[in-house]
Amino acid sequence: MEFVDLGLAEPLLRAIDGAGYATPTPIQERAIPSIIAGRDVLGCAQTGTGKTAAFALPILHRLLADPLPRKARRWIRVLILSPTRELAAQIGDNFQQYARRTKLRETVIFGGVGQSAQTRALEAGVDVVIATPGRLLDLMNQGYVDLRSVETFVLDEADQMLDMGFLPDVKRIIAKLPKDRQTLFFSATMPPGIRQLADQILTDPVSVQIAPQGVTADRVDQEVYLVEQTRKPALLAHFLATRPPGSTLVFSRTKHGADAVVRRLNKAGIPALAIHGNKSQNNRQRSLNQFKSGEVEILVATDIAARGIDVSGINYVINYDMPNLPETYVHRIGRTGRAGEAGIAVSFCNSEERIHLRAIEKQLKKKLPVAADALDLADPAAAPLKTEPAAAPRRGPSTRSRGARSTPKPSSRRRRS
Ligand code: AMP
Repeated sequence: MEFVDLGLAEPLLRAIDGAGYATPTPIQERAIPSIIAGRDVLGCAQTGTGKTAAFALPILHRLLADPLPRKARRWIRVLILSPTRELAAQIGDNFQQYARRTKLRETVIFGGVGQSAQTRALEAGVDVVIATPGRLLDLMNQGYVDLRSVETFVLDEADQMLDMGFLPDVKRIIAKLPKDRQTLFFSATMPPGIRQLADQILTDPVSVQIAPQGVTADRVDQEVYLVEQTRKPALLAHFLATRPPGSTLVFSRTKHGADAVVRRLNKAGIPALAIHGNKSQNNRQRSLNQFKSGEVEILVATDIAARGIDVSGINYVINYDMPNLPETYVHRIGRTGRAGEAGIAVSFCNSEERIHLRAIEKQLKKKLPVAADALDLADPAAAPLKTEPAAAPRRGPSTRSRGARSTPKPSSRRRRS
């Protein structure tokens, strides 16, 4: 199927061309016609499936097909809620890119930065608002936001809204929306609380499930290192030194842990940055930009801060700490292998974390292969490792060379969105 077959308006087709998308992704093929037809959608899709464009393009199409009367004051016709600032900013960038050849206007609203630029944009009039719940409620309470004219409401990453404790805020916002509206509901996983909310706010939705719940991106190579906690820093240094270079996202359970990992890497002469909830929004955005541009190859993040990071061409995801929920594992490793590219995910699992590993394997319905290298760094209790020869030659960080593994594809290394 081609994008033209989806019936999208001409300016959008040209923007798609400009973005370099050749064909629609499966979620786009399935969601776009339903959204254009005005249906509600319940989308259960992994990250990296192209879901932002799957809702942004048909939303823009509908706005273009039904323009406001000339000279009418602009009012908010579309509201998109996102759990994190980074994701909101990213959705905003996508809308801006796709709407470039139109007169439609969008603005992004999130906390952690001053509100005056946001209120100025709202006062000037916008068609699409992309917001995190806290700041939006704040501005609603101050009288800057009127949601009575919203025609389409999108709840993105609903499961993360639940995890981050935003559901009460989300429900308060939904209560201010017109009952007669189109609702698009996206979630990577569908735990019961989310299913219940979907049932409450969707009307006869079209269900679009792209990957079965909890199944990992199939283009991601996964490995586990069984290692004691105290040996994780050395293992990380070893891993970085022996793999071909590539953009690397390291997940830490805590903010403090993320800072500690960065400190150790920097001390070893390896540039790395941390992003987590204790960093200012400007600092987070700066670090993310440096990572996206390839200026810094290693980003260490907590789960919360890593939500919504869309950087194509992430080669490695490293679970420095095992996630305690299988869904989080799926989400983390979905940061690599995005939009059909190959990726590698490795997990450092200590003895207390084996319980999490077992839960992940149960959900995936398969055993994760245990890495065969780093023998001396691995947990001596990991018996199967002892029979394997060390696979990767040791190199210092400064002499990391390309080509020691077949994946990731060299062409994907530096390409970021
Ligand atoms: P998302 O799942 O929305 O975070 O999108 C993941 C990445 O896929 C983004 O960088 C998009 O720009 C990219 N993308 C979206 N649709 C397509 C497409 N049809 N072809 C290629 N890349 C796409």
